[in-house]
This record gives sequence, C-alpha cells and structure tokens, in this order.
Amino acid sequence: MEAKENECQHQQEELVLIVGAGPSGLAVAACLAQRGVPSLILERDNCIGPLWRKRTYNRISLHLAKQYCSLPHLPHSETTPTYIPKSEFISYLDSYAERFHLRICFGRQVESALYDHKSGRWILKARNGDVLEEYVGRYLVVAAGENNEKVVPDVNGLESFKGVAIHSSEYRTGSAFKGKDVLVVGAGNSGMEIAFDLFEAGARTSVVVRSPIHIVNKEIYLFGMRLMNYLPMSIVDQIMLLLCYLRFGNTAKYGLRRPDIGPMYMKFNTPIYPVVDVGTYDRIKTGEIQVLPSLTSIQGNMVTFSNGKTHHFDAIIFATGYRSTIRQWLETDDEGLIGDDGMAKNKYPGHWKGRNGFYCTGLIRNGLHGSSEDGLLIANDISNEYIISKEANGVKFDE
Ligand SMILES: Cc1cc2nc3c(=O)[nH]c(=O)nc-3n(C[C@H](O)[C@H](O)[C@H](O)COP(=O)(O)OP(=O)(O)OC[C@H]3O[C@@H](n4cnc5c(N)ncnc54)[C@H](O)[C@@H]3O)c2cc1C
Repeated sequence: MEAKENECQHQQEELVLIVGAGPSGLAVAACLAQRGVPSLILERDNCIGPLWRKRTYNRISLHLAKQYCSLPHLPHSETTPTYIPKSEFISYLDSYAERFHLRICFGRQVESALYDHKSGRWILKARNGDVLEEYVGRYLVVAAGENNEKVVPDVNGLESFKGVAIHSSEYRTGSAFKGKDVLVVGAGNSGMEIAFDLFEAGARTSVVVRSPIHIVNKEIYLFGMRLMNYLPMSIVDQIMLLLCYLRFGNTAKYGLRRPDIGPMYMKFNTPIYPVVDVGTYDRIKTGEIQVLPSLTSIQGNMVTFSNGKTHHFDAIIFATGYRSTIRQWLETDDEGLIGDDGMAKNKYPGHWKGRNGFYCTGLIRNGLHGSSEDGLLIANDISNEYIISKEANGVKFDE
C-alpha cells in the first residue's frame, strides 16, 4: 500500500504528484491506477485520512447516507450501516488505498509548488523532518482539503479564560465535562452534535447560535437528495421545508431562525451546510440545552453575550470551522484556479482543471460526493493526455 521509504527520499520524476492523502487524493490516485496511470501522493501526516482519524470526535458518523459517501470503483458493502460510523469510514479509506496499491509518502509537508515553464514540470519542495526534499511531476493535483487549519475567533479576553478552551478538532468525548458548565461556540453540524454529546455526558450545555440555520434530520436530508434527481432544487427545497415544519415546528421559537434560502440551495451554493439533527433540537426545546447569542467578551470564567447577559463557564469548545492553507505554499496558480481563501475559485463544474497540468479536487465544499466526482474527472483528463502522449511516442497503452 505504501510507497517504500527509499522511493520517497531521493529526487525522482513522477508523472502525477498528488498533495494530500485524504478521501480526495485517494480518489484521484485510485482512478488513475484503474486507468494504468502511475501517481505519487505526498501527505504531511503519518496516516491516511488524518482529518477523520485524528481530528473528529468519537461519536461522529457520516451525515449523508452511504450511497453519497463512497469513492470511485469501491461502493460500500450491503452490510455497511447507512450512516457510516467514523471507525468504519477510516477502515474503508485504508482498504481503498490498499486495494488500488496507492503509493503514498507520509510525513511530507509540501512547502512550495511551482510550475517551471522551461522544463514543463511542477517542482514541489516537501519537508521531511529536517530535510527539504524535491519532487518533480508533469501533473500536479492539489487534494489538500478545505480543513487545513482550525479557525478560532478573536474574542476579547479569551486569554483570561480560566477553564479549558479547545477547538472542536481536539474534542473527542464529553466524559471529562460531566457536571461542568460548557459553552459550544458554533451551531454547524459539529457544534450541534458536540452539544448533544456533552449533554448526554452530563454537562450543563449551552450553544452559541449566531446566524440562521437549517435544521433537518437524516431522513429528510436523504429524501431531499433523492428528489434532486427528479425535481428542480426550488421545489425540493419547498418540500423539505414543509417536512421540516412537520417534524420540528417553528424552530425560530427556540432561537434557531431559518435562512431565507432553502436547505439544498444553501448546501450547493454557499459554504454552509444544513444541520443534520442528532437529538440536540429536542433538548433545546426542553431547555436542557440553552441557546445563546454571539459572545462579546470573556473575563476569567465569566462570558458576556451580545444580549448583555453574563454566564459562568468551565469550558468552551470552539466549533468554528477551518480554513484552507493552500495559498501559503502554492506559488504558481495558473491564473487563479485557487482563490485567496484557498478554495476553488470557479463554480461547479468549471472548478477542477487549470493549465499546465494543474488540477484541484475537494475544494468546492461538496463533501465526499464531490471528491468522488472530481477524482473521476481529473483521472479521465490526465489519462487521455497520457494515452495520446504514449501513442505519439510509439508506446502501446497497456490497460
Ligand atoms: C467534522 C467533519 C465532518 C464531516 N462530515 C462529512 C460528511 O458526513 N460527509 C461528507 O461528504 N463530508 C463531510 N465532511 C467534509 C470532509 O472534509 C470531506 O468529506 C473529506 O474529508 C474531504 O476530503 P479531502 O481529501 O478533500 O480533505 P481532507 O480529508 O482534509 O484531506 C486533505 C489531506 O491533505 C493533507 N495536506 C494538507 N496540506 C498539505 C501539505 N501542505 N502537504 C502535504 N499534505 C497536506 C492533509 O494532512 C490531509 O490528509 C466533514 C468534515 C468535518 C471537518
């Protein structure tokens, strides 16, 4: 499964260099392998899928049903649960890499990527401990993810907080918080699920909800995804909102205002996903989980909110998301395929291919389904070129 260490250490020319061994990078490499095209993945961490293995809480399972969460050429088995738990998804990624004999160099943090017009090659510098290695490739696929670096808001007085303050990527379980006053900042999928986990573990839990959110449940979400195959998005949104009203009632009564746009429109056109309720909403309704507005300042253990009220907390979990850091190392960006925010600049479907053999995948906030689609598109494109160049050189393509 892994590239042998001696393959990684010396400089050699690769046909395709892929940055990142998350689902997106694995998908491209596997699709290329299926088409007989060799590639090498450079991964800064020491494992496959480190986001899932090291930076997610224990109770997480995929929010979308398994048919929307498989990678190309390896559907989930019939016995796989519809909503795949973290451990099973990690095993799936491991077996995926093994099945397609992917070559991965771990512990390689790409620090620069530059297109050399003279040689027509991409030159990557990757840090391996104290050593800066060079990798050269005809094609470069950036699969470094949307979630490289945690985002924690700059709250006035945070440094004075006397309790535990962590990002959601460091949260595993609520057991250490039993009997404590815990504030979760952020009401996306992670924040709302962590709030429920804390409540179940016996913490007195509050959650900051700053912006309007769409609460759905797994069944309504799956139904909406299926309807998208048959109906226009605006109709699907109306049906989903009706179902949501029947299930949840008027969520605004409990501090959870819905956005003006529908849940599917929001999913596919904005960076924000609908929140798939795992039980948090009913606890909010009963008042067992408290909803609070945005926080304005912190002084010791006391936190003040935008409504002027102050509450005591022992711990704060910032479920405030991530940012992409791709622009920090990608020096030549082929006229702007990647924006300043490190995300794909162009909208679907014009988001994945640049010039000079440059591609990006997994950067339009389209989840695993998007990674899968990008992988197929990129591999087809590269393999077509590869076949043509092989044929031009009189070599028979061996697929
Ligand atoms: C808590 C959470 C829950 C989620 N749940 C779902 C879900 O249920 N369904 C869904 O479809 N999506 C979900 N997502 C979105 C998720 O990010 C993607 O589905 C998936 O992990 C994206 O894969 P990726 O390979 O693009 O990115 P990542 O998984 O982030 O992988 C990127 C890889 O690139 C590596 N890397 C980054 N920079 C460098 C560098 N400079 N040099 C070398 N390597 C580098 C990273 O170490 C990482 O291994 C969730 C995300 C989070 C944070």
